[in-house]
Amino acid sequence: MRISQQLIDEIVAHAREDLPNECCGFISGKGDEALAIHRIVNGEASPYRYMMDKEDQMRAEEKIDAAGHDVLAAYHSHTKSPAYPSQTDVNLSMPHLMCVIASLQDLTIPEVRAFWIKEKKITEAELVVG
Ligand SMILES: [Zn+2]
Repeated sequence: MRISQQLIDEIVAHAREDLPNECCGFISGKGDEALAIHRIVNGEASPYRYMMDKEDQMRAEEKIDAAGHDVLAAYHSHTKSPAYPSQTDVNLSMPHLMCVIASLQDLTIPEVRAFWIKEKKITEAELVVG
């Protein structure tokens, strides 16, 4: 997926604002190009996991539809662990969506990585930033 540094920064800003809890949302775009970030309320409001609030998720999907975009990825933050899928992420993965994780484990060097999680198998996905 191609993504601008600005969108990466928006994801990290969301992660910082929602500390100490994890944040989540969708990345929408066309083809393999990310075009927008859509924040979604973390219904769990937890530092250890997230669950997209169903109503907020539907609102985001409507906006994405209206913009003529597709949902390319779901993103969430890790507050105290690396940008790598946790066992919970593997268990709750949406196999049709790329999983983008923003880690604030080191607040001075936020790390954003992307993965596919299919049939419990984790594969790193390429993020082309620029
Ligand atoms: Zn996670």
